[in-house]
Amino acid sequence: MDHLPIFLDIRSKTVVVSGGGTLAARRIERALSAGAHVKVFASEPTPELDPFLANPDVTHFRRPAEPDDLSGAILAYGAEENFDNDKKLHDLARAAGVLVNVADTMELCDFITPAILDRTPFVAAISSSGASPILARTIKAELESTIPATIGDLSYFLARFRDEVAERIADGTQRRRFWEDVAESVVGERVMAGDIAGAETAFYEKLEAFSTGSGTPVGEVYLVGTGPGDPDLLTFRALRLMQRADVVLYDRLIGPRIMSLVRRDAERIYVGKKKNEHTMGQEDISRLLATLALEGKRVLRLKGGDPFIFGRGGEEIEEIARHDIPFQVVPGITAAAGCAAYAGIPLTHRDHAQTCIFVTGHAKDGEVDLNWKALIQPNQTVAIYMGLGMISQLASSFLKHGMSPDMPVAVVDKGTRRRQRVVTGKMSDITKKVDEAALDGPAIIVIGTVVTLRDKLAWFAGSAEVPQTGSTA
Ligand code: SAH
Repeated sequence: MDHLPIFLDIRSKTVVVSGGGTLAARRIERALSAGAHVKVFASEPTPELDPFLANPDVTHFRRPAEPDDLSGAILAYGAEENFDNDKKLHDLARAAGVLVNVADTMELCDFITPAILDRTPFVAAISSSGASPILARTIKAELESTIPATIGDLSYFLARFRDEVAERIADGTQRRRFWEDVAESVVGERVMAGDIAGAETAFYEKLEAFSTGSGTPVGEVYLVGTGPGDPDLLTFRALRLMQRADVVLYDRLIGPRIMSLVRRDAERIYVGKKKNEHTMGQEDISRLLATLALEGKRVLRLKGGDPFIFGRGGEEIEEIARHDIPFQVVPGITAAAGCAAYAGIPLTHRDHAQTCIFVTGHAKDGEVDLNWKALIQPNQTVAIYMGLGMISQLASSFLKHGMSPDMPVAVVDKGTRRRQRVVTGKMSDITKKVDEAALDGPAIIVIGTVVTLRDKLAWFAGSAEVPQTGSTA
């Protein structure tokens, strides 16, 4: 280790910052956030400093620092972004016995400024010992994505019960086990979902069960949208819940690359439906979710896209709500939004469409039952879910009800995934083109003049050559 990591109390102490640009602004900001008084030396501050210079904890000098300015300071930052000026500050600080840091100039640094993950009261400082600040920031970004923003709330919440728990569970080892259990349990998730009353109920249930050795506290259900397939499109919350689940229910829309992010020892239950062949009915799925949660498990239900957009998520959790089982719903990027972005088709655009409609069609007796008048309007984009299998009926119905045969149409197959394919055409020839391309879905149909923008805006090439690990990713 090249440096000693410590956390310094600089509240009400003086920090000197020399410089007037972006770097100085960041140094001032950080010193203020830790409660310091900041003396800023900047002859010509940029507007970026304005909000700080108005702060009562900041004193601004329109001149370079002089020897007396450093006396009594605890830290000094050279942020002039000019070696000679920063060196002057460095020498003054050294002479005054003040620890000094000059950005990007190791030989002028008594200490380095780490990348910081702030989850007060938890704070992590990440340093590369000056070797690669960029990589330190990459590590920070990884931690940002996995450590929930609200973990601080959890620690404050748990602190409130410390005395009570010590009274109820006398044995130290048992007590530690209880705390470990609680932090990882439904209680933690409730706090982080902002449900403090629910967290208290769950906490006391757990405490009761633990101190009397009886009863199984109720688990929780996570209804999580995973987006259209690219794992990079998961939300932080989705990823966190995927890594906490005891059991996961998934279906055909969830590809192996997403499944590989679920906690390894979570039990996996496939509840998928294949065309015409129902592996498990909707009611059975809801019942299974409830049963597992009532056994005390953290149950993860993964849904492609967004759970509340053509995902029957609402139906699945009605049953959960009826049993008073706590649940969370995590939105995902819905197929229309994800596929359009990855196909270079803005769903709305001032020159093309001010409205965007998401629909799904059900074919009945060879006819598709949709509100054609509403769908055939100018300046509008229509995204059709679950339409690939009936594209020919859809196209002829659109034409029959008056849509222009020249209306641009795109079909995005396996959107956002490595094998994404996009077929574009007109309403009059899209069926033929889709047949020729032998698309096999999942695919979304996008109708509207926005489709023409793809010529300029396509960016995602997929990577068909990469060996596939499974059929759906
Ligand atoms: N809840 C999902 C939709 C489920 S319905 C969501 O919000 O996206 C299933 C339909 O979604 C498929 O028939 C297809 O039309 C669309 N879909 C899902 N994933 C897709 C993908 N990767 N590419 C194209 N369409 C997709």
